[in-house]
Amino acid sequence: KNIIFNGSMVDKSTVHIDIEDRGYQFGDGIYEVIRIYNGKLFTADEHLERLIKSATAIEINIPYSIKEIKNLLIKLINENNVTMGIVYIQVSRGVSPRKHSFTTIHTAPVFIAYTSELKIPKDSLSCGVSAITIEDIRWLRCDIKSLNLLPNVLAKQKAVAENCFEAIQYRDDTVTEGSSSNVWIVKEGVIKTHPANNFILNGITRQVILSICKELGIKTIEEKFTTDELLNADEVFLTGTTTEVMPIIVINNHKISTGIPGPVTKNIQSLFTLKIESICGP
Ligand code: PLP
Repeated sequence: KNIIFNGSMVDKSTVHIDIEDRGYQFGDGIYEVIRIYNGKLFTADEHLERLIKSATAIEINIPYSIKEIKNLLIKLINENNVTMGIVYIQVSRGVSPRKHSFTTIHTAPVFIAYTSELKIPKDSLSCGVSAITIEDIRWLRCDIKSLNLLPNVLAKQKAVAENCFEAIQYRDDTVTEGSSSNVWIVKEGVIKTHPANNFILNGITRQVILSICKELGIKTIEEKFTTDELLNADEVFLTGTTTEVMPIIVINNHKISTGIPGPVTKNIQSLFTLKIESICGP
């Protein structure tokens, strides 16, 4: 198995991470996950632009252009023969003696990328899944795709312990996002999701759905909604790179509407599938 390590493709077994890597010690770094369908990257430019944006926000300078990274990823996917999967990209601030503060001049970022096989979760996508709600205890820069995922990890763990797919977070009374997905509600035909600000990660899938809807004249609103609105919605769904467009049919053991995936969600699912096929083939 090959991976990308600091700009070169190498065998995974030859790579060792330093115990003083700041990603390892402080979670000091950022990451991306890009979907591979039919051996092709889906919305790679959007993900790589966000990678650069996240890096810039925490003062990490990635020494490669988007084009260079994309070419490396394409080579990696071909070399590893991945058809359905993901590529994980991580950039840590690099290696230096342990100290909270950092010097950008003397520390070279550590850039890695590797692929994994991942099937489309067909059954969950067609039947829908359950979720819990949980207080959002994260910091105030959730727009940065940072390696600091402890609150997200604990939230997802609680969901899994309760046999649920996702933990939907709320701050005060506002629903923000899932532990690794964006949240949408449908009420009387109106489709709503939290605005893209510092309280959520502006999902690439979220942006794709918003743009498809805009193109087709399907009205969407980027507006805050409450946990009450979530529980009383006609339909609820999640979006994310590996989550795709996932119907939520039960929240906190309470059925959403009649407890089956709704027509708006199903329509958005099929439009999203068409978008994937238009880029990566059927
Ligand atoms: N919100 C959070 C906290 C996430 O971790 C993710 C993805 O992992 C998303 C939203 C969805 O983003 P994307 O559609 O870019 O995968």
